[in-house]
Amino acid sequence: MDIKSGFIDAIGNTPLIRLNSFSDETGCEILGKAEFLNPGGSVKDRAALYIIQDAEAKGLLKPGGTVVEGSAGNTGIGLAHICNAKGYKCLIIIPETQSQEKIDLLRTLGAEVRTVPAVPYKDPNNYVRLSGSIASEMENAIWANQFDNLANRQAHYATTGPEIWAQTDGKVDVWVTATGTGGTYAGVSLFLKEKNPSIQCVLADPMGSGLYSYVKTGEPNPEGSSITEGIGNSRVTDNMKGAPVDDATQVHDTEAVRVLYQLLEKDGLFMGGSVGINVGAATALAKQLGPGHTIVTILCDSGSRYQSKLFNRDWLATKGLLPHR
Ligand code: PMP
Repeated sequence: MDIKSGFIDAIGNTPLIRLNSFSDETGCEILGKAEFLNPGGSVKDRAALYIIQDAEAKGLLKPGGTVVEGSAGNTGIGLAHICNAKGYKCLIIIPETQSQEKIDLLRTLGAEVRTVPAVPYKDPNNYVRLSGSIASEMENAIWANQFDNLANRQAHYATTGPEIWAQTDGKVDVWVTATGTGGTYAGVSLFLKEKNPSIQCVLADPMGSGLYSYVKTGEPNPEGSSITEGIGNSRVTDNMKGAPVDDATQVHDTEAVRVLYQLLEKDGLFMGGSVGINVGAATALAKQLGPGHTIVTILCDSGSRYQSKLFNRDWLATKGLLPHR
């Protein structure tokens, strides 16, 4: 028998999928870790679980308690599922710019949701900072604090990294992914480098994020903007600190959208925006390196979370991003 004990036990152990059209075109093996198949639908289920288990183990989260978090959506969704499964309450602060699908899903799951204007981190009304101050004023509540809580990257060091290593028999040349909190990038990078220091760890960044320039020049200088959600940052989070970064690459939205439609139409994969950045970066690296390399990235969540935006031709047209057919 192979039976998972509830929602929590079903997190992780996702398949590693060969992205056939991109691999065939480049002569590299471009592999995507299918994190959209987690039971809460995204890569963030892993971090949500480790954060809650860590707070329980430290005696911070008690029966009937509330988990408070600032989230672009996916961490909130993972937390809301786990809170239901464990009997906690959940309060999510989310910027109003995030997709309606994620906000609606959070409410359906029973989380209390507060939408707030999207303002930079330096503003005390930023969604992350607000979630921290709200949690500190509540009784029997914890702040998940995914950006600076190292239980986040520990989830990926302990599970995602070892799974990728086992699924490829250690035959990885390049690991590349975009970062939001940095938990996925850092946890997997730290694990893979320990196993084989010659694996190249590359950070993918959307326009409007400061991490690409930080890696290249030491200064986070964001330029431009992106329609992707959940990735990019203007600061180096505690989860990113000390993570190995061999190089960084920037992907424009036009390329991310082209990649998303190729994934849909040629590979049968219906993916969210950050996957366009990840697979766009993996493809660019494959072209740079030449055939014969194995490149691993993350398929973070599904396109169904962005149907009203990325898969709505009218919306794409307003952004000047309608793909050529
Ligand atoms: N893609 C999506 C769609 C996300 O929601 C997130 C998390 N915000 C990421 C990628 C990045 O993951 P991490 O926080 O582990 O860097």
